Amino acid sequence: MAAATGGFAGKVLRVDLSTGKISTQDTVEKYGDMLGGTGMGYRVLWDEVPAGTGPFDPANKLVFATGVLAGTGVPCNGRTAVTTIFPTVWPKALVGSGHMGGQFAAKLKYAGYDGIIIEGRADRPVWLFIRNSRVEIRDASRLWGSGIRRATLEISQEMGADCAVAAIGQAGEKLAPMAIVANSVSHSAGGVGGVMGSKNLKAIGVQGSGAVHIAGDKSEWEKLVKFHLSILGANNQHVVPSFPTPQSEYYNPGSRWVGEPGKRWGAAEPPIEITGNIYDLNRIAFRTNSAAFFLGDNAWKHTVRGNGCTACPIRCHTIVKVPSVAAKYGIKEMGQNTCTGLLFGRSFFKKLPGGLKGQTALEACMVGMHLADDLGLWCNYGQLQRDLMKLYHDGLLKTKIGSDEYASIPWDKYEAGDPDFLFDIIPRIAERKGELGHVLSLGTGGIFSKWGVPEESWTKDHASLYWKMGHPKHHANEDDGQCGVIINTQYNRDSQCHSHCNFVRNGLPLAVQKKLAEDIWGSADAVDAAGNYTPMNAAKARRARWSLVRKELHDSLGLCNWMGPWVASPLKERGYSGDDSLESKFYSLATGRKTDRAELDLIGERIFTLHRALTIRDMGRADMRAAHDLVPEWVYHDKGDTPPFTKGTIRMEQADIARAMDLFYEVMGWDKALGAPTMESYARLGLADVGKGLQAAKLTPGSTGGSTGGTPGSKG
Ligand code: SF4
Repeated sequence: MAAATGGFAGKVLRVDLSTGKISTQDTVEKYGDMLGGTGMGYRVLWDEVPAGTGPFDPANKLVFATGVLAGTGVPCNGRTAVTTIFPTVWPKALVGSGHMGGQFAAKLKYAGYDGIIIEGRADRPVWLFIRNSRVEIRDASRLWGSGIRRATLEISQEMGADCAVAAIGQAGEKLAPMAIVANSVSHSAGGVGGVMGSKNLKAIGVQGSGAVHIAGDKSEWEKLVKFHLSILGANNQHVVPSFPTPQSEYYNPGSRWVGEPGKRWGAAEPPIEITGNIYDLNRIAFRTNSAAFFLGDNAWKHTVRGNGCTACPIRCHTIVKVPSVAAKYGIKEMGQNTCTGLLFGRSFFKKLPGGLKGQTALEACMVGMHLADDLGLWCNYGQLQRDLMKLYHDGLLKTKIGSDEYASIPWDKYEAGDPDFLFDIIPRIAERKGELGHVLSLGTGGIFSKWGVPEESWTKDHASLYWKMGHPKHHANEDDGQCGVIINTQYNRDSQCHSHCNFVRNGLPLAVQKKLAEDIWGSADAVDAAGNYTPMNAAKARRARWSLVRKELHDSLGLCNWMGPWVASPLKERGYSGDDSLESKFYSLATGRKTDRAELDLIGERIFTLHRALTIRDMGRADMRAAHDLVPEWVYHDKGDTPPFTKGTIRMEQADIARAMDLFYEVMGWDKALGAPTMESYARLGLADVGKGLQAAKLTPGSTGGSTGGTPGSKG
């Protein structure tokens, strides 16, 4: 790769906790062709972590990696990918990545690092101090046993208020697979906290006084940033408001653009009324209010403001103030989070007094955030709560845990929708207490392995939303038909991809979306209306490929895939189009390496393909189609038995999904029978070494002599 002059901080920090050795490597030389983020993480795992390594083995590595655009002025740039052998993958741990926003990525870049590779295991609790070139492994015995909040506070007092701290709570310390690492109050990466705990690493504190150098023309850069701001919508790139207004040609009640003139951030001091032009770029932060989107009108009066990641005007982590929880539960009246983090407490309950948007629901959210974000418990995209619900209501739980333990749990409060229940159940799981706490802390796979519950009781149950390998669906057929299904087959955890659903759920009328689809994916047939699907076609396969490539690009550039890609916009004068080459324009200006859309997408494809190669290597088989790319049975059923391709059902058809997979593998250039990249694909993507490694292990098409191969050195 030609030497880059900007964007990258320049160094990757390597910390061996077993020996105490701290060293650096040149980022561009070693990882420049992977951009950073997940790309860097996958490369480290491929090069350095042998197949068969368990998540909590000292040989496993934990890669905190930002991207080349993190810490710059690009909107929504605060992402850090934390890649490792992921402990909640069932039945066998495989590569996975948790992603966090907040301020950590930018601070790390300002300290001079694009990533940190954590190796080995400390012989006592430690935390990592990073202040520019001064890096120290410090004693954390006084912090061990404390929650994320206290650990963050103490480290901040030691380092200074301008540091960012990524810490684990008690769940991570106790090696719960369902544990997070979190920074900046509410920005967490799920599933990786236990790996950090297994290394005896309580936290990383980082402070930097440097800057990210932009190699290209500064006025061009500023122009591009302004343009990017102009094509932003609200959270999840919803580009039309949810309310009718003379200011807008279209509106859509499903949009997350809920900031309507007349609404107030009622708990701000003094309260702030939303007024004026909803398209004003200085008012972008008014558009999103996650609390109001999920919890309804009541949340407006409790809203203080939005909070969020570096350089992001969307601010999707709503800060809410609910004085009643201080009096009732003795917890802080302020809380903040977005999406499943915000709803952590509410999601435990089937019913709540006052309904799912009432005051009790809001209080349940406050209690849930207070506990989970401090103890460091992950919800696996809401699967934890659905698992408990199913175990309890199906009567399974009674048969799986002892009667004393069962009787010790306040089920009356659970049934009554009393948030007080959360003070029992959340610490029970985070601290792995009793049989129930231990099994739920393992993730859904624990229920199958430890209690002998067949996986099919989850895959057949639509209400479980379970997909495969211990994880739920993430924007699948309910949002995007076959495209959503394909995307949900590709990862070892929930897919965490928003590229596809951010487009189909952007709120624009279908006719406008189809016009944009023609330009971007070459055919209006690339999109359907959600819940009104047509049979599979090649354009949808192209869109699925594009979505996955863009997801990996964002996760490696340091951009937020909860917002991007920005291919639709609120701009009527542009026919509502965004810009499909925005990422490559920013990359070119930041690095000074002129790179067009196709060239950057090729890097995204390289990263995605390396993830595939790692999965093949660590599963020890190449027949991904049969063994990995699975679709749960509930996808093929409809409660009312409505046939597929009928308006109003998200039911898919088996033969059509088989065709969808054929078309997807074809457009990827993979072997269709196996669903595995060919030697030609690896070579085309600059991954010839990876292809050769897999070929030697008989894990490439044509080398397997059948559907499976073996992995020399694998521990099985
Ligand atoms: S949309 Fe939310 S998660 Fe994404 S960068 Fe902005 S504040 Fe962070």
